[in-house]
This record gives sequence, structure tokens and C-alpha cells, in this order.
Amino acid sequence: MADDNVFMKIVRGEIPADVVYRDELVTAFRDLHPQAPVHVLIVPNHVIATADDVTEGDEAALGRLFTAARRVAELEGLTDGYRLIVNVKRHGGQEVDHLHLHLLGGEPLGPMRSRRR
Ligand code: AMP
Repeated sequence: MADDNVFMKIVRGEIPADVVYRDELVTAFRDLHPQAPVHVLIVPNHVIATADDVTEGDEAALGRLFTAARRVAELEGLTDGYRLIVNVKRHGGQEVDHLHLHLLGGEPLGPMRSRRR
């Protein structure tokens, strides 16, 4: 079932996670396999499988992802900036079917993607 995905289990507190921020709409926790000194995932507290599935009913939670990201960046001291990424479905490299914002920072992150040629 969709609400059995690993991020919903973290939202419900059923499996451990290093939660850095939570409110009634979103939860933010450290990525298990960080790709930068700071790597936090911010997820809605309800299931939205991918960014390709969002509806108007999701707008409050989607807006909160960004205000939560700003708050997490402040808590983590990312005054020089950071990167926000949403991977979408197979070509986007999405592994977990629960929409999530990656917040990466703590060092210069380089180009957004490597050139193909
Ligand atoms: P994506 O490829 O955008 O779907 O990203 C999924 C991310 O979830 C990856 O960076 C994983 O390292 C991370 N991840 C998977 N399971 C967990 C978990 N239990 N706790 C924290 N991060 C996780």
C-alpha cells in the first residue's frame, strides 16, 4: 500500500530517523546516505507518490516544503546557500515513491549535472 512506503513510516515514527524538523504538514530528516555535508529530505506528511501526481489539494503541504527547507537551512547554518532537488519518476532517478525535497549543502556543490559530452 502507498502509505506503507519508508517515508510514511518515518513520518509516523514507526522506524528510526534523524528528524531535524517536523510540523503538521511536513517532516524533515537526514538522508541515510548523505551526498553532501548536509543532506536532509523534506517530505509531506501525507502520500504524494511523485511530483507528477500533485493536485490542488496538496498545495498547502507543497508550499510548506519550501518554508520548512528555509528553516532547516537556517538551523544548519547554510548561510552561503544550498541546493533543493526533486527527482521525478524513473528518468528523474526517483527511488522512493513519496515526493521529497532533497536539501543539500555545507560545501560548494558544483554544476547541477555533469555534461553529457
Ligand atoms: P530519490 O532517489 O530522490 O528517491 O531519493 C531517495 C533518498 O532516500 C536517497 O537519497 C536515500 O539515501 C534516502 N533514503 C532511503 N531510505 C531512507 C531512510 N530510511 N532514511 C533516510 N533516508 C533514506
